[in-house]
Amino acid sequence: SNGNLFAALRAAFPPDLDGTAVETDNGLHYSWRDLERGTAMLANLLASLGLPEGARVAVQVEKSVEAMLLYLATLRAGYVFLPLNTAYQSAEIEYFIGNAEPAVVVCTAKNFGWVSKIAFKAGTAHVFTLDDNRSGSLLERASHCSDQHEPVRKQAGDLAAILYTSGTTGRSKGAMLTHGNLLSNAVMLKDYWGWRTPEQGGDVLIHALPIFHVHGLFVAIHGALINGSKMIWLAKFDPKLVVRKLPEATVFMGVPTLYVRLLAEPGLTREAASRMRLFIAGSAPLLIETFNEWKERTGHTILERYGMSETIMLTSNPYAADPHHGGQSERRGGTVGFALPGVSLRVQGDEGRDLPVGEIGGIQVKGPNVFKGYWRMPEKTAEEFTADGFFKTGDVGRVDERGYVTIVGRSKDLIISGGYNVYPAEIEGYINEMAGVAESALVGVPHPDFGEVGVAVVIPRPGGAPDGERILAQLKAQLANFKIPKRCFVVDELPRNTMGKVQKNLLREQYRSLFG
Ligand code: ATP
Ligand code: MG
Repeated sequence: SNGNLFAALRAAFPPDLDGTAVETDNGLHYSWRDLERGTAMLANLLASLGLPEGARVAVQVEKSVEAMLLYLATLRAGYVFLPLNTAYQSAEIEYFIGNAEPAVVVCTAKNFGWVSKIAFKAGTAHVFTLDDNRSGSLLERASHCSDQHEPVRKQAGDLAAILYTSGTTGRSKGAMLTHGNLLSNAVMLKDYWGWRTPEQGGDVLIHALPIFHVHGLFVAIHGALINGSKMIWLAKFDPKLVVRKLPEATVFMGVPTLYVRLLAEPGLTREAASRMRLFIAGSAPLLIETFNEWKERTGHTILERYGMSETIMLTSNPYAADPHHGGQSERRGGTVGFALPGVSLRVQGDEGRDLPVGEIGGIQVKGPNVFKGYWRMPEKTAEEFTADGFFKTGDVGRVDERGYVTIVGRSKDLIISGGYNVYPAEIEGYINEMAGVAESALVGVPHPDFGEVGVAVVIPRPGGAPDGERILAQLKAQLANFKIPKRCFVVDELPRNTMGKVQKNLLREQYRSLFG
């Protein structure tokens, strides 16, 4: 059979192709037949270009249903999809296009001038435009193509997409994901998160995430399509609109900052959320305060999960009793849940030995979801895999006796102060509970005596006025001395990238000369 991910997604379309597959925030309805025909036409356009095997299709456009169709069409035609963050400017685009050497580049009409210049310099043969109002040369050209197309045959190990990592810890790396990586993860999550097929009453997903990243592009879109579920499609996250749409939906996925913004909406009530089946959070740590407040306000327990560009989804809190973990069904705030079915997860110390239950070390994983390697970085790829084939995630955490995984930070953010390991998430957890504090970030900076010391950066709650000195004094009463930050600053906001992840490298840079 055909291992092409598109073929599997299409096979899950409901028998009635006239039903609504996607409903947009500006009132458009796309039927399943529209998805079938639109992807066929775009796939035929790509096929007509005579691209070489494995050609990359790089795409930097605003979120639109047509952009999703282009992703699906790229799979269908057997090429490699390469989405780019819409925030990237010329220096970044020059790096990504120079690095990936795509055969096709699709950009907005507004950016065509400078993007096409960069692309042609890098040897790209075709540059098309696509705007979020269904215009541009891509659709114009595709409108002349046939709406019949047989999905190209692919093996599970063939490349489907290159996803550049978010660049939170340094320069983004291109993670090479195969049809098999993406499909196995989608099939497993269909079951694990209890998606309901149309015959079982169906699900409706509110899609409010960007589509240049694992969360919005893979977890959300594959989740809906492989279940034949309708999507309510928001071009941009709009908390008021999400609240208004909740009664028509059953599943919502968001990064933690979206949950915080939704909680600021008075319309978010138990009643508004009463039809919802599942709220999923990930991409960055969900504060326990948000988790608790959400439960109080809506009656729903957010399901937090953990994944990354290199592996798609790795762990999840249970949706229902997890037979692989003794039938436990509790969604525990502050944890990212269990290793998902098919994923082997272990925690190792620096000397490369498995650590006992509860001890903190590097999280390593193996499974059909783990990527093929970093694009054009064979040394980096080799470094990040162990001799027995586990991928080193770069995240630090522990697994408790019940199997729940807790992430305590990234190995690059770990602070070694006077020879002792300080795990940022632990100290941040204490600070976040203090009066007047909304959230905090702990980073290590150079220090002449201790090598490194912690510096805490604290964001006040609206109306709160936390005091740096008092926070330090309170920590001293609770924690060992080596864990106490040397300084504590109260500021208005933390630097974040577009996925809402705190950029600790920027904070380290900012405070690096504090101690000489
Ligand atoms: P880069 O690898 O370029 O530094 P990045 O790691 O942020 O960037 P992504 O692949 O987008 O790029 O993000 C994956 C990371 O996000 C994980 O390694 C982990 O640190 C973090 N993450 C994802 N989900 C969670 C979660 N539920 N809780 C805590 N951290 C999470
Ligand atoms: Mg990473």
